[in-house]
This record gives sequence, C-alpha cells and structure tokens, in this order.
Amino acid sequence: MAHSVTLIQGDGIGPEVASAARRAVDATGVKIDWEPVELSGEVIRKTGQSLPQYVIDSLDRTAVGLKGPVATPVGEGFASVNVALRKRLDLFANVRPVRSLPGVVTRFQDVKIDMVIFRENTEDLYSGLEHEVVKDVVTSLKVITRTASIRIAEYAFKFADEVGRKKITAIHKANIMKLADGLFLRCCREVAARHPHIQYNELIVDNASMQLVMRPQTFDVLLLPNLYGDIVSDLAAGLVGGLGIVPGANMGEKHAVFEAVHGSAPDIAGKGIANPTAMMLSSVLMLIHLKEHAAAGRLQTAIEKVYASQNHLTPDVGGSAGTTEFTDAVIAAMQ
Ligand code: NAD
Repeated sequence: MAHSVTLIQGDGIGPEVASAARRAVDATGVKIDWEPVELSGEVIRKTGQSLPQYVIDSLDRTAVGLKGPVATPVGEGFASVNVALRKRLDLFANVRPVRSLPGVVTRFQDVKIDMVIFRENTEDLYSGLEHEVVKDVVTSLKVITRTASIRIAEYAFKFADEVGRKKITAIHKANIMKLADGLFLRCCREVAARHPHIQYNELIVDNASMQLVMRPQTFDVLLLPNLYGDIVSDLAAGLVGGLGIVPGANMGEKHAVFEAVHGSAPDIAGKGIANPTAMMLSSVLMLIHLKEHAAAGRLQTAIEKVYASQNHLTPDVGGSAGTTEFTDAVIAAMQ
C-alpha cells in the first residue's frame, strides 16, 4: 500500500533539496503518493495568509509531511510560517539527531559525535507575544507551561528508553529566569525521577555551549526549551560539518512533519550546490516513522557510502559536486 505524504518544497534551496530527497526516497522502492502543496514567502505575500488552509487540509489527510525551509522576514513582515505550522498542528517535539558522517572533514573529526536534541516546539519566546509598551520600549513574553515541559521531557525519556540511550542533559538558564526556566527544570526532574535507570544531569545553557565545543562526545540526549534548542541545534550542526547534514522531525500526537535544521540559505539558492543530505536524512526519519525500516536503512547506508568515498560531496562539506550529482551518487549506491 502506498503512503500519502504532503510535500512542501518551501523557499530558497527548499525546492532543490526537497526534489533531491523525493528522488532518493522513490529510489528506495517504497511507494509514496506525494501530495505537493505550495508554501513559501511568495505565496504568503500573495494570499495574505501565513498558513493557507490547503496546507493544513493536506496534512490532516496525510498526517505526514516532508518540508523544505520557508523564509521569514527579519525584524518586520509576516510571522514565521514554520512556527505557525508547529503550533497549529501541535507538533510539540522537535527531534534532531546530530551524528558525525564518515569522510566529512571537521575540526572534530577525531571525536565520535552522536547526540539527539529534543527541543520543545510550541512555546517559550516563540509565543510571538511582543508589544511596544511606550515608544522604544518593547516586551516579549516568554511562556513556559507545565503541560508542554512535561510533554517534551516525557517524549525524550521515552525515546531514550526505547533506543537504549543512557544519559539526558536538561539545558536551562534557571539561575536567571528562576520562574520560567525553573518550571521547565522542575518538570524535567519530575520525569527523570520516573526513569531512574537513565542518567540525568543539568547544565546552564552558556556552560552547555562551551562543553559542547570542548567535549561533544560526552553528550547523549539533550533536552531544551524552544529558543535554546534552536540555537544549540545550529551549534551542534557546526560540530559535525554544518547545516547541510543535520535532519529533524517535528512530532505531534496526530501529525509528523520532517524537515532539516537549516533554513532557505538564500546565499546559495538557485546555484545547484545545496547539500540535500539533511533533507534526505529527514526522509530517513520519515521512513522509520512510516515503519519502512528496510527502505530507511537502504537510504541511510547509501548516504554513508557516498560520504565514505568522498567523491560526490557538495562544497559545504569540502567537495565540488552539485546537488544533482550527489543525489545521483546516493541513488546509484542503492542499486
Ligand atoms: P540558513 O540555515 O538558511 O543558512 C545558514 C548558512 O548555512 C548559510 O551560509 C547557508 O548557505 C548554509 N546552508 C544551510 N543549509 C545548507 C545546505 N543544505 N547546503 C549547503 N549549505 C547550507 O540560515 P539563515 O541564513 O539564518 O536563514 C535564512 C532563512 O531561512 C531565514 O528567512 C530564516 O527565517 C529561514 N529559516 C527557516 C527554517 C525552517 O524553515 N524551518 C529554519 C531556519 C531558518
């Protein structure tokens, strides 16, 4: 039976990497009925709607999406459609595995990095509740709730249980935001107490950033509120070779939307050199979610083979191949 999947290409490099990922998924032999829907800065400007209803309708039908990045204007304009989608579908858990790939030259290539980031995805400073109290004085509300904090903590501990991960590090700034981050931390401790076989520790976010650079191999599962999760994800991506290779999943009770950590990369859009690995690895997560474990394994192994050979890599990871050449090599490696 074919799986129905909503395909959102997005902006900038989105269409390039989404098409590459689609080709790679189709080459695994798994049957997918792709339902392409348009969602981009241009569509939002034209329709005046930040999240058109047809996107929600499609995801309600399919329950699974593969999504390219959508650009958000900086310091003005419409609110982030990525955040709106996560909130609207209650995609409360953002899961980002960060792993070294063979053949990628990085400052940390002698170190085995294998961590999974769990970022709360619906609240915190992403509440979008900002206002100008008087001219030149602005407040921005950070919202932390017990419900959302317990939910992400339980999700992370359940995952650690299921896959045999040993340690969870909660990351916070509760020394300063005693109430908001204090609540997040209390919820993490409460859930940790129900899982005594998993080692649990806490780090203040500034210290955690330093430790991640100094000793990345000591991290296993990271558990963070929304904003720290966003920043630490890019930091962690930098440890393993950059945003071109780190995948992600936005998980809710009913829906799952898979997307790379990276944005629309306007600096390289249209040049044919974007690295589609992050989207392909997001597709691997999607195939696992669809219980297509053999296909997921085939795609993962093919990507690793191409990296190990170092022959068809894109410029961001030290090669000179374009998006299509890399994709062709991954598909050839599956034959
Ligand atoms: P970015 O992630 O788009 O790019 C950061 C840097 O990484 C750039 O130099 C870019 O060329 C490089 N890069 C990213 N992905 C790459 C890939 N696949 N291959 C090779 N190089 C890659 O971050 P930014 O420039 O800060 O943001 C650009 C836009 O993307 C903004 O409008 C932002 O709001 C949006 N954004 C969207 C999402 C999302 O849709 N989930 C996530 C992050 C940023």
